[in-house]
Amino acid sequence: MKTISFPRKIQKHLSKLKRAGKTVGLVPTMGALHGGHLSLIRRARRENDVVVVSVFVNPSQFGQGEDFRRYPRPFARDKKLCEKEKVDVIFNPPPQTMYPKGYLTYISVDRMSDVLCGKHRPGHFKGVATVVAKLFNIVQPDRAYFGLKDFQQARIIGRMTADLNVPVDVVTCPTVREKDGLAMSSRNVYLGKSQRKNSVLISEALHSAVDMVKCRKAKNADKIIEKVKKDIRRIAGARVDYVDICDPETLEKKTVAKPPFVILAAVRIGKTRLIDNVILLK
Ligand code: AMP
Repeated sequence: MKTISFPRKIQKHLSKLKRAGKTVGLVPTMGALHGGHLSLIRRARRENDVVVVSVFVNPSQFGQGEDFRRYPRPFARDKKLCEKEKVDVIFNPPPQTMYPKGYLTYISVDRMSDVLCGKHRPGHFKGVATVVAKLFNIVQPDRAYFGLKDFQQARIIGRMTADLNVPVDVVTCPTVREKDGLAMSSRNVYLGKSQRKNSVLISEALHSAVDMVKCRKAKNADKIIEKVKKDIRRIAGARVDYVDICDPETLEKKTVAKPPFVILAAVRIGKTRLIDNVILLK
């Protein structure tokens, strides 16, 4: 496994492999790898000759007062995990390489970036779309892998890729959960013991909402949302940023919870912001 820190270097390394007809799969991450990341890496490993994992805590997607500085960066551990998964290249550029002095170019995906998490984290998806576009240009993968845990992000990247005619297949992968149902996240390590225990109520509330729809016990979106919020507020110190029921393609709000839909939530427990969602296609 190679660790490469500079765009030119990785471009040179991969162009040789591509000329030899190898396919390339990219898994963009911010590191602090867990089972969710590993599921993307394993899928990329199955579907491509060469697997590249980027490990980059992207400053442009963090707002003022967010956790950019304290975001976990256990790079030696990440490297070991990638080695074990037979990753070919880790790309870990220093921030000043990705955003050198004088940097001015950003990508924004209208409308879809202003709702849900975008409403609570202004500029976040502009940072995400920009860094992913940069990674696509640097790595020029055949396929890139994204988790549905970050549902809005996956849809925005899909939109951007289609809109800009980027020749990359965007592959989405299901959310991987802890045994009790909490969606795996690098931020889960911030949770104290009792916060961690209570955080399971988020996924439980979302799943029980979907069950209610499946059993035809409810379909009014506002009523379902209120019930989910009430359930989540049982977590001590929890503040709900949003719970919404949306169209899974456009992210537009739905008033009737008729499949296909996705129910999404963002919750702050103390200083930790957690997101989760459950999709019901039919
Ligand atoms: P991050 O390092 O948090 O930026 O995540 C990198 C990629 O891993 C993104 O595509 C995420 O959606 C994906 N990911 C994070 N957590 C999970 C999870 N629990 N299940 C599946 N994919 C995940």
